Amino acid sequence: MRTYVYDFADGGMDMKDLLGGKGANLAEMTRLGLPVPPGFTITTEACRTYLDTGDLPEGLSACVAAHVSRVESLMGRELGNPADPLLLSVRSGGRFSMPGMMETILDIGLTDAGVAGLAAASGDERFAWDCYRRLISMYGSTVEGVPGEEFEQALASHRRAAGVATDPELSASDLRDLVEEYKKIFHAHTGRPFPQDPAEQLEGAVLAVFRSWNTERARVYRRAEHIPDDLGTAVNVMAMVYGNRGPRSGTGVAFTRDPATGARGVYGDYLPNAQGEDVVAGIRDTLPLQELARLDAPSFARLGSAMETLERHYRDLCDIEFTIEEGRLWLLQTRVGKRTAAAAFIIAAQLVDEGTIDLDEALRRVDGTRLARLMFPRFDLSGAPEPITTGVPASPGAACGRVVFDSRRAAEATGPVILVRRETNPDDLPGMLAATGILTSRGGKTSHAAVVARGLGRTCVCGAEELDVDAEGRMFRVGDLVVREGDLLSVDGATGKVYLTALPVRPSPVVRYFEGELEAGSSPLVSAVDRMMARADAVRRLEVQANADTPEDAARARRFGAAGIGLCRTEHMFLGERRALVERLILAEEEGDVRAALDALLPLQRADFTRILEVMDGLPVTIRLLDPPLHEFLPSLEELVARTAAAPDDPALEHDRTMLSAVRRMHESNPMLGLRGVRLGLLVPGLFAMQVQAIGEAAAHRAAAGGHPLPEIMVPLVGDVRELAAVRAEAERVLAGVAGAPPIPIGTMIEVPRAALTAGDIAREAEFFSFGTNDLTQMTWGFSRDDVEGTIFPAYLRLGVIDESPFESIDRRGVGRLVRLAVEGGRAVRPDLRIGVCGEHGGDPASVRFFHETGLDYVSCSPYRIPIARLEAGRAALPAST
Ligand code: PEP
Ligand code: MG
Repeated sequence: MRTYVYDFADGGMDMKDLLGGKGANLAEMTRLGLPVPPGFTITTEACRTYLDTGDLPEGLSACVAAHVSRVESLMGRELGNPADPLLLSVRSGGRFSMPGMMETILDIGLTDAGVAGLAAASGDERFAWDCYRRLISMYGSTVEGVPGEEFEQALASHRRAAGVATDPELSASDLRDLVEEYKKIFHAHTGRPFPQDPAEQLEGAVLAVFRSWNTERARVYRRAEHIPDDLGTAVNVMAMVYGNRGPRSGTGVAFTRDPATGARGVYGDYLPNAQGEDVVAGIRDTLPLQELARLDAPSFARLGSAMETLERHYRDLCDIEFTIEEGRLWLLQTRVGKRTAAAAFIIAAQLVDEGTIDLDEALRRVDGTRLARLMFPRFDLSGAPEPITTGVPASPGAACGRVVFDSRRAAEATGPVILVRRETNPDDLPGMLAATGILTSRGGKTSHAAVVARGLGRTCVCGAEELDVDAEGRMFRVGDLVVREGDLLSVDGATGKVYLTALPVRPSPVVRYFEGELEAGSSPLVSAVDRMMARADAVRRLEVQANADTPEDAARARRFGAAGIGLCRTEHMFLGERRALVERLILAEEEGDVRAALDALLPLQRADFTRILEVMDGLPVTIRLLDPPLHEFLPSLEELVARTAAAPDDPALEHDRTMLSAVRRMHESNPMLGLRGVRLGLLVPGLFAMQVQAIGEAAAHRAAAGGHPLPEIMVPLVGDVRELAAVRAEAERVLAGVAGAPPIPIGTMIEVPRAALTAGDIAREAEFFSFGTNDLTQMTWGFSRDDVEGTIFPAYLRLGVIDESPFESIDRRGVGRLVRLAVEGGRAVRPDLRIGVCGEHGGDPASVRFFHETGLDYVSCSPYRIPIARLEAGRAALPAST
């Protein structure tokens, strides 16, 4: 028969799913012979059954009673025995730590009759009343929902009446009076007296812990931490030990090494004459743990040796909660301790040096998310004022500067600026380049602002919906507050918070190391990062390339370890002064005009490609032919309408009127599904041919100069092999006419679901595939990537429809299935087909793992995410831990 209850002696640390993290570790400590009070764990499965059916699993109560008997015999006390009652603690503990999110109830089993027995057995009447008042308030608030403030107010008024400042100064009779008052509060709210049956108390406490899995705060926490909602919590029931039994007792937390720096030693806090929750609640000031050596040297020594045992056993930093009862040490909890991102790297390297773990294990213990955290500059928040608003943290970093509202002024500004827009479009690029930070009131993590900002390494907070941006008036409002052009703003890309002041910023030593400005040995952190990167590079199978479209980005990508450019977008090359040429192309009425516009663009494109091929000499550069709808390069419809309507007959506006009719002609209801990508190549004669010619000539030029250019041509938005075949035929014709050009592979993006579904056909015409997972996600879900993150996703996350944005981390079941299908289909036709990914997911840790598992050859991501992808590709290639 299935058991829902495990004695601590029967579990182990590999049973976290069933016993929760806390229960599994209590069992492990028990097996190690460490001093853990006797107890048992009710499984997460029992919780799930209760939450599903509203009833406890059959037989659970009897099973619990049997385990209580075992605890009674080990402790030599009985539950409910008025002469010397056994008391129990009841604590939550799910698979993943959710600190403070669920319930704990101490001193279960105490009753009116038992309190006298406890006083007699302990020889301490004050202690007995203190336990009873704690039970009534904890039980009342967690099991029966009595407002906790009422208990707190009663406690405060008793302190005042007794003329004391702290709880330990209250006398036995003060506490006895307090208990009477607590019982009245309990009765007033529940209509019943405080329960005097210990078994009823225990069941009430267990049910309250089960229910606390679904409190609002627990749900919010799980959403933020990506913890599934259906795991349930285990319940740990343990014999009470007391830290509040006088000056030889106390409670504390300890770390086996400094969780901030990794330095070995005894770190933690100790609170004499107190119970656990007093430490966490911060009601009284704790002592540094070293003080315990002076207060109780034998217990301190025992604690030290228990900590050593745990570190050796877990081979990692552990944190411990302990209680000392009249000079006797008890361990109440341990777990592999939380740590800062920096400490994670440093401790992993230290454990290697100490011979505790090998480098592969060290690599398993760090991750790309933490590395990302270490790469961005941070604000020094000591003394910071309250933020004025919070948006979506879209591109990390700490930026401060003066507010500007348009890109031209940003580009012209002398000092650092924060570009504030409702949203950005490709036209804003010069301003985004000039700005240190970008703040928008619309859009989410894959909006234009976010994608471009990450690519550029600019800090970006987007979708700050409280902002009312009035670009014309050069100001924005947040509630009553008005912020004008020139005001100083600080934008925290790690948290999404925005401050109306200039906060001090610290640069990241890790980025300086990747840039080559700091030596690997310059600090323990940089040295640890260097070692993990070296190991990741040695074991990874996935190649890491960069999304880069300027020589500067390409150079940075190379410094950061990119093996090439996996996506060189060309749309930014058509902006600025070149827009006039694009306009000429669009407005051309005769073939000769088209030719003239293309001829003017050709040398400019050739120069663009030549410079990038030079920086990336010897490494592949995948150049994507023009993708976005052409009308994105034209002035806005609204502006033209306003200008021409004001003076309909003004001959000076003739050009505007022509432009207006072109913009109207090209207007599309769904431009992302319109005339873009390969469709442009097929419908705008000469456009792709010009780009291919420029690529061929740039490569020929570089080869003639003694370089080793390796360009590749990539066709966007293909949905059918015939689209690709047509572009390919034209490209081959053009390249055949370029003297001295090396062979240039031609491949395609897979970013339209139909391309994934017909990948076998497409592979006949493609020498490589690169998944454009931004568009593939957009089109698979039918989510407009520029809109949903600010509008639909917040609600979807709240409703639990999605756990995270599919634009950030690959949706394995849906989009991922298309990726797998396309890999299979493509390789069935062309077994040596090179396959990569160049959507934003190429730099996302969880997605990199998926691409490794799916057998891709490379991932391509923005330069600043290259180290993250390298690290994660290495981690994905490691064999499972033994
Ligand atoms: C993509 O769709 O994933 C992609 C890389 O192309 P873009 O983001 O430029 O549409
Ligand atoms: Mg795309």
